[in-house]
Amino acid sequence: MSDRTRLLNPGPVTLSSRVRQALLRSDLCHREPEFVELQSDVRERLVRVYSETADRYAAVLLTGSGTAAVEAMVGSLIPSAGKGLVVANGIYGERIASMLQKQGRPFRSVNAKWVEPIDLPAARKALDEDPSISHVVTVHHETTTGRLNDLSALGQLCRERGVGLLVDAVSSFGGESIDFAGWNVQGCAGTANKCLHGAPGISFVLIDESAVGKSSSNAPSFYLDLFAHLDAQTRGQPLCTPAVQVLYALQEALEELEELGGWKQRHAKYAALSRQVRAGLRDRGIPLFLPEESCYASMLSSFPLPQALRFEDLHAQAKRSGFVIYAGQQFLKDVMFRVAVMGDLTSADMAEFVDSLTEILD
Ligand SMILES: *Cc1c(COP(=O)(O)O)cnc(C)c1O
Repeated sequence: MSDRTRLLNPGPVTLSSRVRQALLRSDLCHREPEFVELQSDVRERLVRVYSETADRYAAVLLTGSGTAAVEAMVGSLIPSAGKGLVVANGIYGERIASMLQKQGRPFRSVNAKWVEPIDLPAARKALDEDPSISHVVTVHHETTTGRLNDLSALGQLCRERGVGLLVDAVSSFGGESIDFAGWNVQGCAGTANKCLHGAPGISFVLIDESAVGKSSSNAPSFYLDLFAHLDAQTRGQPLCTPAVQVLYALQEALEELEELGGWKQRHAKYAALSRQVRAGLRDRGIPLFLPEESCYASMLSSFPLPQALRFEDLHAQAKRSGFVIYAGQQFLKDVMFRVAVMGDLTSADMAEFVDSLTEILD
């Protein structure tokens, strides 16, 4: 058995040793030129993950988890005179509506059941009814179930209507295709510690440069004002003390991704590992939770919890074998478990995982 703990939860991920080592680089003050260089290098690498964003988008770094990036994005990019339409089918989509509510902003929601696709006809109807909607906000990979939301039709609708799309891509950035121009993406929130394989503590938003300057000082809080961070970072001065070591790790993780060949190669690796887990569990009588394999993102699978098995017991036994699996959330807690393949994992790890699960099921 490997002595590594292998995290099969959807972030934070199992770090590669070189990313872990990067956390130990020398101490650095964030007002020194070496930091300015680190910050601009990471910002440039982030807009190069997807080639289409390299010239048209600016990356803004935040010290905070993925939620901070999503909250800063909706708070800063939807202008005071505008309105968000939240298109949700899971916890993370519904959380965006809570953010807007707490920010005291006008918004509408179109909620689908968590096991269903996003409700496109209802989104179209809301846009027809309410011309004050300036932005559609949605989740790309809804981690609640593992569903990869098909944003092509919704994105096309946004483009036709001249409405910006703000995407929570926290669990897909770096691992799935994002059609920035085709979907009229004005903001895209991501995090260091999911598909990019960095350590937790830094998140970011890619902003369409054409949105820059339009919505300044509209943000609901000092810390989550994207434009204040953008302005400071463009001048080479972070607004506040950033998580310096986590940024070192993200720089190393982005280099690692580039050496692999980029997001498409990472996507292919995730797809192969997930196929292996899905086939292994299917052979042991555990189907996927959603109706079709094609519903899923490449890096996450959800499975029905076998009858007569409590998640706590499954989790404890898997953990003894060196694997951390993830429960369903809220009403899915007692009926689902999830397996992610992000991070420094190999097909040997997944084979060992399937074997250990077989022992537990026996
Ligand atoms: C993980 C996740 C978040 C929240 O990220 P945190 O780092 O836990 O704050 C938001 N949206 C999606 C889709 C996620 O998977």
